[in-house]
Amino acid sequence: MARLGSWIEPFPEGIYVKPADAWVDPSRPKAQALVTHGHADHARGGHGAVWATPETLAIMETRYGEQAGRPVQYGDCVRIGEVDVSFVPAGHVLGSAQIVLEYGGERVVVSGDYKRRPDPTCAPFVVVPCDIFITEATFGLPVFRHPDTGSEIDRLLHRLHAEPERCVLVGAYALGKAQRVIMELRRRGHDEPIYYHGAMERLCALYEELGVPLGDLRPATGASKQELAGKIVICPPGALNDRWSRRLPDPITAMASGWMRIRQRARQRNVELPLVISDHADWDELTQTILEVAPKQVWITHGREDALMHWCMTHQIKARELNLVGYEDEDD
Ligand SMILES: [Zn+2]
Ligand SMILES: [Zn+2]
Repeated sequence: MARLGSWIEPFPEGIYVKPADAWVDPSRPKAQALVTHGHADHARGGHGAVWATPETLAIMETRYGEQAGRPVQYGDCVRIGEVDVSFVPAGHVLGSAQIVLEYGGERVVVSGDYKRRPDPTCAPFVVVPCDIFITEATFGLPVFRHPDTGSEIDRLLHRLHAEPERCVLVGAYALGKAQRVIMELRRRGHDEPIYYHGAMERLCALYEELGVPLGDLRPATGASKQELAGKIVICPPGALNDRWSRRLPDPITAMASGWMRIRQRARQRNVELPLVISDHADWDELTQTILEVAPKQVWITHGREDALMHWCMTHQIKARELNLVGYEDEDD
């Protein structure tokens, strides 16, 4: 009998599914690509056919122009070559999917990036039992235990209200994190206008178009200091310390990221108010997910794999590092 998963070949540039002649999240242009979600480290432009959820395809079109898209709704199954392929929610960002591959009586799940805690902007992660679970491990160390999101949002609001003459400038990735922070603020009853950096505009508009209501959003550009006092402004992390932010009224610099757990990372970006809000599974979510999925093998795509490898070993699960390159550019 062939080795388990012998039909799946990991390369540094992505995962090759031989009997489908297709690649999962390839970092270079390929004739046939299966894309888990819209973050730039997973979804690149220039592929031939792209299988992805309609939301992911819409995100890719917003960023790269028209795609030779083959939309697959959550739960639908398509046959590519000799492989049955379905897309299941990953809970990471809008449209994000785990890709379920079935061939020769074996089931392999490629998780893409995922998280388990609730996110009002996307469908929750679905557990799919399988033979091989190919997982990320961005926060694969026991030190990473993300706090409750609501309490982080409350800290943000508390700070905002404590210094009403200033504004709070929140660094957040333009795809996913920004919209999640906005939506979480709305859920905590914050109905004030929220101001955004120009780089956020198209993706926020797309989220709204796809049914994620973000409330009163306004461009920060052109707003006076007076108008912005006591308000929240959201920008990409790269804009936190650049000239753009000088137009703001004495901003309190915040950033929403799983990395804010590490004080040094916050200092590097001169972040005064670190908010530990992550779109990735923390240590407990990673290990809990592996227990629930109960695979025969775990393959780890990217992140801090050593501790998770060890954890798998102590739980009698065979584990393997894939050392894929180029992931982890834009999301955390
Ligand atoms: Zn991602
Ligand atoms: Zn990623």
